[in-house]
Order: sequence, then C-alpha cells, then structure tokens
Amino acid sequence: MSFDVEMQFTVDPPGFTKGHGGPNEGGHHGPNWTEQYGMDLGASTDTAVETAAYAAFDGHVTVFTPHNPDNDSKTRYGAQFAMRYPNDKMGGFYTHIKDVPAGFGVGSLVARGDFLGNVIKVIRIKNPDNTFETITLTAPHVHLALVEIIGSQKVGVNLYQLFLDLETIYAENYVPVRFMEDGTPPEPQWSRKKNYVPVAGRRQDTGYASKPPEQTSREYQPH
Ligand SMILES: [Zn+2]
Repeated sequence: MSFDVEMQFTVDPPGFTKGHGGPNEGGHHGPNWTEQYGMDLGASTDTAVETAAYAAFDGHVTVFTPHNPDNDSKTRYGAQFAMRYPNDKMGGFYTHIKDVPAGFGVGSLVARGDFLGNVIKVIRIKNPDNTFETITLTAPHVHLALVEIIGSQKVGVNLYQLFLDLETIYAENYVPVRFMEDGTPPEPQWSRKKNYVPVAGRRQDTGYASKPPEQTSREYQPH
C-alpha cells in the first residue's frame, strides 16, 4: 500500500536564500520528530520586506500555538502548528512564523499553497532584568518537519533535498511524493510533476473560514 501527497515550496521562492540545515543537523535532534526532522528553509534577511510562508501540502490543523512575541526566545519563537494530510497518514510541523491569518487554528482546513504567515526576521527577547532586547536574525527561516504515521508509530522523514529543489530549480512545479507505509523513505515522483499555479489559485491572507476552539501544546521545542 502507498499513497501520494502533492508537495510544493513553503518559503516564497523570491525570498528564499538557502537551507540552514536539515534533519539530524545542527540543533535538529531527537527524541521528538518535530525537532529531529526539522528542515530550516532560509528567508531573506531584508527586514524591509516580508517573506511569506505557504502550506507545502493539504492538511487539517491538529495543534496550534499562536505567536506571542512576549514569549519569544532565541531558539523558540513564532507560531507553532502541526497539520495532518487528509488521510491522517502523514503530517508536518511548522514554526518561526508570524502574521498567521485570522481564524487559523485547530480544525482549520488548509490547501497546498495557502498563506500561513510571514517568516520571522526580528525577535524581541526578555532579559533577566525584565528589559527587552531586539535581535535581527542573521539566518531567518521556516522550520518544517515531516512525519509519516504508520499505525500508531510516528516515523520522521527526510525530504530536505526535495524542499531545497522545490524552493529553487522546481519552484514552478509541485510534485507527488509517494509514501510507502512500510518505513522506507518517501519518493518524489518527478515524472508526474506539474506546473505550479501561482497567486490566482492560491488563497492569500484573507483569513480562514471559521474560528475553531483554541488549543495549545507544550509538546514541541523546535530549533
Ligand atoms: Zn530548525
């Protein structure tokens, strides 16, 4: 058995810079898949313009912690949310994002290409003496981690190279990725890539249909 998930870039390609590390690199380590399988997809350091983040695949939101700028720290900042593909057999975790559209929350239905917010480039952290310090990030990025759910097991997957390609040479495409449901790595189906439909077919920050009940989680400590 297998299933295919259509995937596309997350960081708006004109604002993409480079990868700042994938699964098992840098601060990406276990035991949680949300950290270990993180892919740090870099955004422009130009703070005069925002760099948008878009949904890499269809899903429904299962965990949402809104961005509270007063709680940002050097390693943990921005909104955190997890979403699962409609069949609940794979999912993703995103963080370091601000300006999440109104109404977005647990239960929201998200289509591939939907606007998720903007990449955080400046944080404000609280010093021990309760004063605040503004820090302009030298490597702003979206942290996106992916997981396959096989039975009750969550198996992190490494699609870092795919996402670097989707941000650059295949930014004008989306591609089905085959999940095998047997613990082997998912495989992009390049022969079936399609042309990405820009802006007109993509929901911008117009808000999400209904405001679902608020729910937060402290399970995640991404990098
Ligand atoms: Zn990361």
